[in-house]
Amino acid sequence: MSLIEKTATELIALQEAGRVSAVEIVEAFLAAIRQREPQLRSFTLIDEDGARRQAEAVDAKRAVGRPVGKLAGVPVAVKDVLCTKGSRTTCSSRMLADFVPPYDAHVVEQLRAADSVVIGKTNMDEFAMGSSTENSAFQTTRNPWDITRIPGGSSGGSAACVAGCQAPVSLGTDTGGSIRQPAALCGVVGMKPTYGRVSRYGLIAFASSLDQVGPFSHDLADCARLLEVIAGHDKRDSTSIDQPVPTYTATLNDRVPGLRIGVPQEFFGAGLDAEIEAAVQAALREYQKQGATLVDVSLPHTRYALAAYYIVAPAEASSNLARFDGMHYGHRTAQKTDLISTYAKSRGEGFGNEVKRRIMIGTYVLSSGYKDAYYVKALKVRRLVKQDFDLAFATCDVVIGPTTPTAAFAVGEKADDPLAMYLSDVYTVSCNLAGIPGLSIPCGFTRTGLPIGLQLLAPPFEEEKMLRVARMYESTTDWHTRRPRI
Ligand code: GLN
Repeated sequence: MSLIEKTATELIALQEAGRVSAVEIVEAFLAAIRQREPQLRSFTLIDEDGARRQAEAVDAKRAVGRPVGKLAGVPVAVKDVLCTKGSRTTCSSRMLADFVPPYDAHVVEQLRAADSVVIGKTNMDEFAMGSSTENSAFQTTRNPWDITRIPGGSSGGSAACVAGCQAPVSLGTDTGGSIRQPAALCGVVGMKPTYGRVSRYGLIAFASSLDQVGPFSHDLADCARLLEVIAGHDKRDSTSIDQPVPTYTATLNDRVPGLRIGVPQEFFGAGLDAEIEAAVQAALREYQKQGATLVDVSLPHTRYALAAYYIVAPAEASSNLARFDGMHYGHRTAQKTDLISTYAKSRGEGFGNEVKRRIMIGTYVLSSGYKDAYYVKALKVRRLVKQDFDLAFATCDVVIGPTTPTAAFAVGEKADDPLAMYLSDVYTVSCNLAGIPGLSIPCGFTRTGLPIGLQLLAPPFEEEKMLRVARMYESTTDWHTRRPRI
């Protein structure tokens, strides 16, 4: 197995054994990026010089016997919605094409403090709105398992660069599925932590009550390690929770005795592709073989979750994106006249179609006369979705189902049909509405060789148990060891 196909945990072990240096690792990944980027287009920015300097610093620390961090010498790619001090952060939008943040996001500070090597920024749907990465203003990222297909979204670049071995791990964000859905479609592990588990400081907001940062990796050991690094209290995000961060890596291999898995019938209805369903059912049987009990649970408000999400998320987006007016923030039109038309022209030029659509929907559902009928009602549905989970978790440890209704679709297939695109989030949005943690892990391939994801959902702040349950499956299967031929 070549260096670029290894996990972060393996790369750390190799360095500790003195078999490879951080500089050799970063050079291997930079070479893979150069070689594969013309096809995959995962990155909006590749920081070759910065990455080399960070790797040299890690090797220098090791050479003099100074202690190194939990991710020492591990290249990490960061979704371009997270601020990186001194390097461009675009949200894959013309609006922020020239934005260079004067500070690092909290999670980026944590990555640096752990001695990882921030190698570049990854492509995404503009302002994280989308499910295919086709809404990027710059480029469409391709699925490493089949480059005629999309990698999912909105964190498509972060998923594709790990699946395509351009980086061993990466960070993404998940507002309605943007980590779990691309992880499923690219055959990697992706986690959305509990709302409040990870600080949002320096994350450019889409829908603040739903947004959460999380890791992508090949396997659960790396996922646990990354979560340990990025989780924790940060007083600059008032919604981040002041609760100790468990050592997820230490307990990962502990089985969950008497495991009860909730299977929601609402996740197995019309629209679910037969091959996906078969793979998920096979995974559930594997759990039964390991002694788990399957319990039927009901999440009756799931059928309204997508509609509620597509009201709440645009409402918050319309408010958050008001700051990009060409005056305070963002692209300013060259055709400056009076104030109002300068705002309008700047926003008209700076935002793409999906972002404009969300701003219009969000403004509409918040407008006087319609607010009670749409926004307030959606908030009530949101509470019912949360209540469904509270009731379900009274009878089970985790809920398991498919991450997505279909495998990766073709580039262009849904690009002109927003509703079809929104439907690919049907199993992922409830988790964000309820604020609970969710995880997607590889559980097979379709006949045509496309990855399939298994979704696990757990009660708030039970990431530790969720990871252990996932590991029970991973430890008896080899999906996570497969790499695409590129
Ligand atoms: N696909 C969903 C949307 O377009 C989710 C996006 C996300 O999680 N950032 O809103």
